[in-house]
Amino acid sequence: MRRHDVLVVGAGLAGQRAALAAIEAGCDVAIVSKLHPLRSHSGAAQGGINAAVGAEDSVDTHIYDTVKGSDYLGDQDAIEFFCREAGPTVVEMEHFGTIFSRGEDGSLARRPFGGAGFPRTIYAADRTGLALLQAIHERLSTEAFTLYEEWDLVSVLVRDERCLGIVAFDRRSGAFETIAARAVVIATGPAGRVYGRTTNAHSCTGDGVAAAYRAGAFLKDMEFVQFHPTALLESAILITEGARGEGGILKNVKGERFMVKYAPHVQDLASRDVVSRAIWTEVKEGRGFPGDYVHLELMHLGRERIESRLEEICDFSRKFAGVDPVVEPIPVMPAQHYMMGGVGTDIHGATNVAGLFSAGEAACVSIHGANRLGGNSLLETLVFGKEAGIAAAKYAKGASASPATEKDAAADEERLRAMMKRTDGEEPAAIRTEMQRVMDTQVGIYRSFPPLADALQRIRALKARYANVRIRDSSKAFNLNLTDTLEAGNLLDLAEAIIVGAIARTESRGAHARTDYPKRDDAGWMRHTLAAIGRDGPKLSYSPVAFTRWEPKERVY
Ligand SMILES: Cc1cc2nc3c(=O)[nH]c(=O)nc-3n(C[C@H](O)[C@H](O)[C@H](O)COP(=O)(O)OP(=O)(O)OC[C@H]3O[C@@H](n4cnc5c(N)ncnc54)[C@H](O)[C@@H]3O)c2cc1C
Repeated sequence: MRRHDVLVVGAGLAGQRAALAAIEAGCDVAIVSKLHPLRSHSGAAQGGINAAVGAEDSVDTHIYDTVKGSDYLGDQDAIEFFCREAGPTVVEMEHFGTIFSRGEDGSLARRPFGGAGFPRTIYAADRTGLALLQAIHERLSTEAFTLYEEWDLVSVLVRDERCLGIVAFDRRSGAFETIAARAVVIATGPAGRVYGRTTNAHSCTGDGVAAAYRAGAFLKDMEFVQFHPTALLESAILITEGARGEGGILKNVKGERFMVKYAPHVQDLASRDVVSRAIWTEVKEGRGFPGDYVHLELMHLGRERIESRLEEICDFSRKFAGVDPVVEPIPVMPAQHYMMGGVGTDIHGATNVAGLFSAGEAACVSIHGANRLGGNSLLETLVFGKEAGIAAAKYAKGASASPATEKDAAADEERLRAMMKRTDGEEPAAIRTEMQRVMDTQVGIYRSFPPLADALQRIRALKARYANVRIRDSSKAFNLNLTDTLEAGNLLDLAEAIIVGAIARTESRGAHARTDYPKRDDAGWMRHTLAAIGRDGPKLSYSPVAFTRWEPKERVY
């Protein structure tokens, strides 16, 4: 039987950093990943990673910007720790071999990003995520560990409130297997495919978050969903905030630089929630282009700068929108981009379940609170990936061997085999498409009560249909019909948690904008939402926000 000290699920930046830390602590480590590690969504990150380095910037400003960006919902003790670790983390990644872009004097080049009081986003052209992912992967490849590649996490095993390992599905053989572990780290990344219009890869289906939730872990702050202001009109491919960081500007159909109205000081570089709402408002009030979009103009920056600093953006715009940003504007609209919520953890990645840890986009520490700043997420994967790896190793060393057995995989296998035997039943693809339509139209940038309640009913009806889902393909090897079905089930659980949290939170804060409750309500809602699985869906409770030095103020940019 397969057995390890520390089992990391996910091989993106968070998972690989966690694995490295646990190996360095002397544990026998394995990684389970449904993708080849270098195909993880971290590799799609374009704009950069934040760190206050150099004499002119300060860690305190980074902390303040993150606290303000979070609309005061981020835990300030965690944010302080996070921003202090930023400099050493970036230096370490450089020592691991990341080739960052440089200024003329040879120092690390930095670009301004939304909501930041100083240009502190360090980058590798517009391929920062891939540069970091390759470097951590090369570093990890010098260590001994087991990689279960193209294996899917199906469920997290918990008995007597302790995590014992996981059940996983091997895509190549079609086998369901128990992998026992003293400690498990969930680092399965984003869940953006809850929405149809998203910048996230098709693989971003929140599997680990949903599995941890079903096993008894609390989900935290799920109602906070980030919409990135600039995604290509049709494909929703991301156009990095780095494009505005380099000097790009947004214009409406009248040729007006409309951000001047919404954020007089920093204009196009306001926080993402602010810019997304501004674009939405322009379009809804009739100042968008026919077909509902606005323009992102880069032309004034000149060919040399555009093609060297934003090469990939040029490529995407030319190939997927048929426009050349050197000579014409890029048509953009907001799209789902990031989940502020996730598996609730402390600073060390620990969840409420003993032996279960989480890091990266799957987790919610919370440093992003109600709205994440661009460039803080790559940093989060590395800072808290390392913390979770260290904490999981420490826990594993003090824990007895996991009592999980081969038989633990039987229940999942039977459930999936029953779906394969059905001769009629629901199509997973139809359920997923309908869920995405509901989320796009009723749980988007602006929310309000009757549409949210209706969305919840629709998602619950889809869950009932999912109970009778059918897997048509009965083959053993590379059965993508089966993995798609697993993913659709995970997305439905998360969609429900997002909506239930959004209905309950009767205020507007950060990315959660209620038209029926347009004000932030610190007296009532300065608290984190916790969702625990119940028989009839998520059961909510609340936990306090940690404050250190910064008192809540009105958030203006
Ligand atoms: C297009 C795009 C651009 C971005 N740009 C930036 C940026 O410039 N700066 C920034 O700070 N942030 C950016 N972000 C956000 C940031 O990239 C992500 O939040 C972060 O990289 C997530 O890393 P992760 O390690 O948590 O997850 P990922 O890198 O997504 O890795 C998840 C891993 O989990 C595995 N996995 C998932 N499900 C299963 C399962 N069921 N079984 C087994 N394995 C599983 C996958 O195989 C993968 O290896 C961007 C995001 C996107 C989508």
